[in-house]
Amino acid sequence: MRNTYMLFLRSFMIFFFSCMTIKINLCFPSILSSLKTLPIDGHFDFEQVHHAAKDFGNRYTFLPLAVLRPKSVSDIATAVKHVWQMGPGSELTVAARGHGHSLQGQAQAPGGVVVNMESLQGLDMQFHTGNFPYVDVSGGELWINILREGLKHGLAPKSWTDYLHLTVGGTLSNAGISGQAFRHGPQITNVHQLEVVTGKGEVVNCSEKQNSDLFYSVLGGLGQFGIITRARISLEPAPEMVKWIRVLYTDFATFSKDQEKLISGESTFDYIEGFVIINRTGLLNNWRSSFNPQDPVQASKFKSDGRTLFCLELAKYFDRDETAVVNQEVKSSLSQLNHVPSTLFVSEVPYIEFLDRVHISEIKLRSKGLWEVPHPWLNLLIPRSKIQIFAQHVFGNILTDTSNGPILIYPVNKSKWDNRTSVVIPEEDVFYLVAFLSSAVPSSTGTDGLDHILIQNKRILEFCEIARLGVKQYLPHYSTQREWKAHFGSQWEVFARRKSSYDPLAILAPGQRIFQKAIFYSQ
Ligand code: FAD
Repeated sequence: MRNTYMLFLRSFMIFFFSCMTIKINLCFPSILSSLKTLPIDGHFDFEQVHHAAKDFGNRYTFLPLAVLRPKSVSDIATAVKHVWQMGPGSELTVAARGHGHSLQGQAQAPGGVVVNMESLQGLDMQFHTGNFPYVDVSGGELWINILREGLKHGLAPKSWTDYLHLTVGGTLSNAGISGQAFRHGPQITNVHQLEVVTGKGEVVNCSEKQNSDLFYSVLGGLGQFGIITRARISLEPAPEMVKWIRVLYTDFATFSKDQEKLISGESTFDYIEGFVIINRTGLLNNWRSSFNPQDPVQASKFKSDGRTLFCLELAKYFDRDETAVVNQEVKSSLSQLNHVPSTLFVSEVPYIEFLDRVHISEIKLRSKGLWEVPHPWLNLLIPRSKIQIFAQHVFGNILTDTSNGPILIYPVNKSKWDNRTSVVIPEEDVFYLVAFLSSAVPSSTGTDGLDHILIQNKRILEFCEIARLGVKQYLPHYSTQREWKAHFGSQWEVFARRKSSYDPLAILAPGQRIFQKAIFYSQ
């Protein structure tokens, strides 16, 4: 009897799922024509969709059905509302694509609609001067464009990412962390107001005071609750110049102690980061093209070969007429540090050159065909109390060189983060961002190949798990909802509740693989 029942159930399931497939295929032409007839200012592209199936990670490729190139916010709202009104019977999803610099297909929509947010660029960037300056920008605007325009007004955002050719919507969906975050917090804590298209196609303005639950949901929300179409970003007076400093340490404990001392001080530097160097030959010689050693003779005697070193990277902003005072301040701050004395390197560059520094590397890498390669990056947020044990086990052990790409490491203050946003961070007052920014050589089977780097990443994650370090992934990537629940921990309930409020059909940002769009068939 039980066997007969099981057989019936199996046959029914097979019949049900084959009907589903037939139905999806039958729906396809009608979905296409329904999109084509939508009243929008921009247009849908059904042919040129391949670029929307690519990202910086160069590892995941999911073709969308269509790419929307909106000319207005209402184009986006119309498209999302249309998908919402199709109800749970349609498998169509919508992904906002900023600059497509995700690593694992997060801005892709398999068989769905990708909204090309950059089509909205240039929609009036409005600067407001005064005591509390800010700018209103499109969600598809690149940070580099905001910087260039801001400088014309003598203003600039306070908090950055290391690379500026990313969109406002893309970084605000994660956090936006760089060397200024210790003082100003991440980019998501430097936003006053947002305009958002929710998963129901509604256009909603939100801020701390107005629709605040949606405001905080969207910030760090991995694109799950709405598409950011406009943002009001806090600004400060832009400095003219930057004193850019690098010093080396041979011992991690001394390095991190100095980093933590600096981030707790009020008037030290404006930017504090650091990176790990393992077994690099001629390191300081390479620096000489852009940095000057304070003591050239001693610096030339310093050898990096075979060693694990830690570089503290600092920046102090200034205007040209303050040079003398700033030189004194920098000297005094540096005198409190315990780096290897002969390794002090200094450079002076215009503010824009400092902020756009990664783009200069991009141009060089592109010219050698080394930019569009697989990027198996791993970004971790590690509690201060666990950073020593992490460093001990990973640097020089799991990782025996840094030839596949830089490893950034720097602490930030949790007090500068807003716990109402959706981003997940460790529980301690100070935590470190550790970013393994590897590039893989396509089709290599050696230590510079994708498989080798992925195995190393896995070993690092396994160590964090076994040693119970309380690490959280930044730019997180998981394949199952169980893993996502573990990532969010006690925040999962709020995250899931927010999803059911603002995108109940799970239409948005399917490439994050957190929620799956439900498909119910009534006939
Ligand atoms: P996309 O990759 O296009 O999108 C990312 C996610 O956000 C997707 O899920 C997408 O659907 C969603 N999304 C995009 N636009 C919107 C929108 N308008 N509204 C709602 N959701 C949206 N991050 C840091 O914090 N600090 C760094 O220093 C840093 N440096 C980087 C350097 C490089 C070279 C690269 C490639 C990345 C770096 N990142 C850094 C990571 C970067 O912030 C994220 O990858 C970011 O998502 C990229 O922005 P994007 O515009 O390309 O977004």
